[in-house]
Amino acid sequence: MSLIAAPILRERGQREVFCGLTSIVWLHRKMPDAFFLVVGSRTCAHLLQSAAGVMIFAEPRFGTCILEEGDLAGLKDANEELDREVARLLARRPDIRQLFLVGSCPSEVIKLDLAKAAERLDGSNPDVRVLNYSGSGIETTFTEGEDACLAAMVPGLERTERRQLLVAGALPDAVEDEMRRLLGGLGIEPVVLPGGRAGAHPAVGPGTAFALAQPFLAETHDALVRRGARHLPAPFPFGEEGTTLWLRAVAEAFGVDEALFDAVTAAPRARARRAVAQAAEALRGRRVFLFPDSQLEIPLGRFLVRECGMEAVEIASPYVHRGIHGPDLDLIPEGPVLAEGQDVDAQLARARGARADLTVCGLGLANPLEAEGLTTKWAIELVFSPVHFYEQAGDLAGLFSRPLRRRAALRGLHP
Ligand code: SF4
Repeated sequence: MSLIAAPILRERGQREVFCGLTSIVWLHRKMPDAFFLVVGSRTCAHLLQSAAGVMIFAEPRFGTCILEEGDLAGLKDANEELDREVARLLARRPDIRQLFLVGSCPSEVIKLDLAKAAERLDGSNPDVRVLNYSGSGIETTFTEGEDACLAAMVPGLERTERRQLLVAGALPDAVEDEMRRLLGGLGIEPVVLPGGRAGAHPAVGPGTAFALAQPFLAETHDALVRRGARHLPAPFPFGEEGTTLWLRAVAEAFGVDEALFDAVTAAPRARARRAVAQAAEALRGRRVFLFPDSQLEIPLGRFLVRECGMEAVEIASPYVHRGIHGPDLDLIPEGPVLAEGQDVDAQLARARGARADLTVCGLGLANPLEAEGLTTKWAIELVFSPVHFYEQAGDLAGLFSRPLRRRAALRGLHP
């Protein structure tokens, strides 16, 4: 029996996660002529600034239009102010071709209609595509920011009848290059969402088959299906097994010959297996507890259990979508608790009771748990690090084994 048949523990309590604004930090790198304008408070500005601290010397590609007390009290016309700020921004930065108005908790609390604002600003700025999405922390976890952004782009994509593969999800450039090389070897030239500059985003239509590169793109999935595209369900490309099965799902949909598939994948598969085996030495036989954070938990749980020899105590994800996570759940043997959502106190009690060898959790929980003697891994690092496909498989295992090695070194032991 696999975890796909297991009951889901659904929790709807207090959550400990970053909000969707965080995703701007990696999204802006994939769209060089885009600007992300957060309509929010000073807290939002501080979050962005500290999350993106490394970008301090780069030309800023995001900013915050701060709602002051007067806006929040409804004493000023926030729309007028927004129009004025956008006009100033576009006059100062004629290189901007895509402008995302990003909603936040404060803009949602005062019910500022950013969809209408984006429509109005799009109409009055013919050289700039203006879109909006929510990055608010009221209902989201941080990777939903990317999902909301990509989903907002889908209705505006050109239509095509062409038979093509679309890969959805922002990947670091080196990882995207590896994916293109692998697919190119199979004779498939994918189009990618996001596609980069304005005008370079892919077209979509009934001939489009799409694969998700990230497990947190549920809204984008639905938006693509509404445009007539067909989803290719597959495990996510983490580790040797996940990458092979992801590529195989694409290869089968495009009628790639088995011999060609083996010829293209054999060498990188062997490399990945070797790298994982080496990096996973410290993980074998150890127990892992995954808190819900990035929505990568289910495919990573599969990777840790099947390729690194770990035993999962609990695999929790902010959302469990059987249509998206089903192929990964199918591969995880029954045993761990499968949880959706969070009730942080109840979950902390379970984690403390389990005292797993490794607890994967958000930054806010990691320090207190470390102080209690648990070994933790910051989940957010998994989103910021290149972890997809064959060449990163060893590094991915290494990200989990490092905290165990560090703890052992601190104790003066070897794992
Ligand atoms: Fe905080 Fe909400 Fe702003 Fe995120 S969007 S920084 S959760 S106020």
